[in-house]
Parts: sequence; C-alpha cells; structure tokens
Amino acid sequence: MSTVNHFFADLGEAGWNQLLPARQPQPTLENDIDADYLIIGAGFAGLAAARRLMQLEKDAKIVLLEARQVGEGPSGRNSGFMIDLPHEVSSSHYAGQASRDQIQIRMNRTAIEFARKMVDSYHLPEEAYLPTGKINAAATKAGLDHNESYARHLDALGEPCRMLDAAEMQSLTGSDYYQGGLWTPGTAIIQPAMYIRGIADGLVDAGCHLFEQSPVIDLKVQGQYWRITTESGSVKAAKTILAVNGLIQNFGYYRRRLMHFNLYASMTRELSELEVNQLGGESRWAFTPADPLGSTVRRIDGTGGHRLLIRNRCTYEPGLRLPNDRLERISADHDRAFYSRFPMLKHVSMEYRWSGRLCLSRNSVWAIGEVEKNLFSACCQNGLGSTKGTIAGIVAAEMACEKPAESLVPEFIHEALPQKLFPEPLMSLGVSNYLKYREWRAGREL
Ligand SMILES: Cc1cc2nc3c(=O)[nH]c(=O)nc-3n(C[C@H](O)[C@H](O)[C@H](O)COP(=O)(O)OP(=O)(O)OC[C@H]3O[C@@H](n4cnc5c(N)ncnc54)[C@H](O)[C@@H]3O)c2cc1C
Repeated sequence: MSTVNHFFADLGEAGWNQLLPARQPQPTLENDIDADYLIIGAGFAGLAAARRLMQLEKDAKIVLLEARQVGEGPSGRNSGFMIDLPHEVSSSHYAGQASRDQIQIRMNRTAIEFARKMVDSYHLPEEAYLPTGKINAAATKAGLDHNESYARHLDALGEPCRMLDAAEMQSLTGSDYYQGGLWTPGTAIIQPAMYIRGIADGLVDAGCHLFEQSPVIDLKVQGQYWRITTESGSVKAAKTILAVNGLIQNFGYYRRRLMHFNLYASMTRELSELEVNQLGGESRWAFTPADPLGSTVRRIDGTGGHRLLIRNRCTYEPGLRLPNDRLERISADHDRAFYSRFPMLKHVSMEYRWSGRLCLSRNSVWAIGEVEKNLFSACCQNGLGSTKGTIAGIVAAEMACEKPAESLVPEFIHEALPQKLFPEPLMSLGVSNYLKYREWRAGREL
C-alpha cells in the first residue's frame, strides 16, 4: 500500500493556459466507482495512454484522474517542441549513439503522428499543433560548431537539415543576435495548454471518464484489483497506469532513481502594432538553443496576439518544493536573454512567468513497465516529454491490454532500470554544480 502524501506546486501561472478562455473542468471524483482501466495523471503520457486504450479496448470503461485542472501541470507549461530527432540534453549538441538514435527517431515520429491524429479527430484549432519544424539557433562560434557537429550526425543518420546564415536568422527574427541556425523539418510546434485541454476534452467526448482536481492519495491492492483513493472518492480498477512522471516515486516506485529538474519560462505581454513593426521578421518561429543549456525562444501570433517566449535555466530539485522567490531570481536571466536579443523591444515587459518540472534518470532510461501485477508505469522521458511522454503512454497502454502484436512502437526496448541516485548531499552538489558549469559555458547561447 502507498500513501501519496505530497504534491508538487509549480510556480506561477503558465502563459499558455492564461491566454485561453476559461474552461469548464470535468467534475471532481465524488463517489466510489469501478473501472476496467484507470490512468493517473492527464499529461502527455496519461492522455496518450487513454487514447490508445480506447483504440484497443473499445468497450472498456476507462477512467482518468488528474490532480489539478487539465493543462495546469507540466504538460501545459512547456515550450511546445514535439521533436522527432535525437534530443539528448546531457550531450553538448543533442546527438546520442547513432544506433539508438535511429530507433528513437522512429518512435518519436510514431508519437508525433499519433498526436496529429488526435488533433485531427478532436478538431483542435490549427495553432494547437503546427508541423513547421524548428531551428537550433546559434549565437556564438561554439554554437555554430555544435550545429555543424549535430548536422554531421543527422547527415550520417540520413536526416535532412539546412543551415541558415546570420542574414537569414535576422530576416526571420528581426534580431541581429544570431550567427546562424540549423533547420530540421520534423518537429511539431504546439500551444501546450491548448493541445492538452483539447485532447482531454476530445477523449471525454469519445467516452473516457475524466475527473479533475482529484489527486490520488492512496493506492493499494484489493483482491485482484487496484483500489485508489482521493479526498472524496475511490476507484477500483482491474488495471492501473501511473502517468505521473517523477512523482511516481511518491507512490513508492523507482524511489531514489528519478531526478526532478525544474525549467522556467517567461512570456511577454501582447506586442502593439508599432512594436510588431519595430521588431520586424516573421510572426511565428521556434528556436531551440544550439547549446542544450542555452535559451529557447519562440514567437507566437495566435490567441493572445503577438508575443515572445523565453525559456532558460534548469535547477535540480530533489525536495520538490521550490522557494517562493525562485521565479523572481530567475527572471533576471530571462530579461537579460530577452533584451539582449530584442533591444528594439526594451519597453516590452513580461506578463507571465512560470516554472515546471521534468524528470531524468542518471543513465537516461525510461521508467516504463509493469511495476507490480496489473500496475504499469509510463514515466521518465529524459527531456523530451511531449514526444516521449506520448510514447510512454502508448507503450504502457499496449502492455496493460497485452496486445503486443498490435503495438504501434514495436521498436520499444525494455532498458535497464534507472540507476540509483548518489546519496545526498553529494547528488545535489554534483548535479547543481554541473548545471552551473554547463550554463556558464553556454555563454551568449543563454
Ligand atoms: C518550462 C518547460 C519547458 C519544456 N519544454 C519542453 C519542450 O519544448 N518539449 C518537450 O518535449 N518537453 C518540454 N518540457 C518537458 C515536458 O513538459 C515534460 O517532460 C512533460 O510534461 C512530461 O509529461 P508527462 O505526461 O509524463 O508528465 P506531466 O506533464 O508531469 O503530467 C503528469 C500529471 O500527473 C498529475 N499527477 C501527479 N501526481 C498525481 C496524483 N497523485 N494524482 C493525480 N494526478 C497526479 C500531475 O498533476 C500532472 O498533470 C518542458 C518543461 C518545462 C517545465
């Protein structure tokens, strides 16, 4: 039996959710109910698991429980890059081992196609999911070298890409900050909260039973069922999938094997027509940094008007709770990154600032599998949670229904367990100092 006694509060309201009209949440769980399949967590992983189960088990009763309102968790707080290519954040330029990368690319593309089909079936607006590709932006000689080296790796894998020079980067962004870029075509760019909310609502319309603001506080075996309890109800389920990312450790699984990291983002207020003209460039683009520890930057022009987003800084947070002044402290890094790239927008302030969590393991492996009989994990993506979370959900759903012959991701390999973390305070000191060093080395890429 596990008593799940603490939850993680991300700081700040994510701009993505705030830009959208208020949504009527699904009810809180108030009764004792039964389910064939229960999924805990309605992020990328949980939603993909629900969709896959609905495809494979058409008559099954599927219940999805979310601790918060849908779209408020990390899946609605990210930068919105559903990347198809290797994105090894521990590497200096994202490349991993060639043979592993080829498998990963195939799985990532399956996930992106799965996401596209959900977007189509549930009639999400165009801006929820844009298959436009992305650019690795380089502001330094070292950044250009990272791009060159990554391009060689992609070339060896047979993957198309195109180098952009400084003039092309300026005509795209209006800024002369960047020296070059590396464009790759396969990334889908999402409005994260619009995507998560839209998929959740689509699943409900298709028959999934979603309960929001219903954190699970207890999980135990009852005969051949799993019984989970919330503050005001319970679910007795034949099979249960935990899609709660690093918080699976709160349920008693993978304890001291998964690392919680926090990322931070700021979004400007809406730009006026005059500011849009002063900025110049195109109205939609999406940059990941050439150095993984640099700044992600996006320009958006949909709901909420013309705005820019900056995401940088990464902190290791084993204790889950962040100090309240953390956003304020990080905001200086966001403002510096923003105003140095866009000095023509020096009067434009940030309207939203927020943090969110992601999960890594020391040996960069997933936490996916049957952790106990009829209890499955769809967790730990090591840095590409939109795409790999979707894969995790698909894989866990297919495992739960025991239909390997129908697998969408036959290449999925059961890897080793996530390695144990070093004891504290050694672990925190080591990881935090390593991050500080990598951020310092990123220089103007940050
Ligand atoms: C600022 C930022 C930028 C990022 N940018 C990108 C990006 O561009 N591309 C990318 O791929 N990834 C990005 N990420 C990472 C990505 O958002 C995460 O990896 C992803 O959200 C993981 O998805 P998930 O479904 O596994 O977990 P989560 O999104 O964490 O979803 C798990 C859900 O489970 C719920 N839950 C937890 N405990 C319970 C409980 N006891 N009972 C009920 N529900 C519970 C949570 O509320 C949560 O909604 C970014 C993250 C941040 C914070």
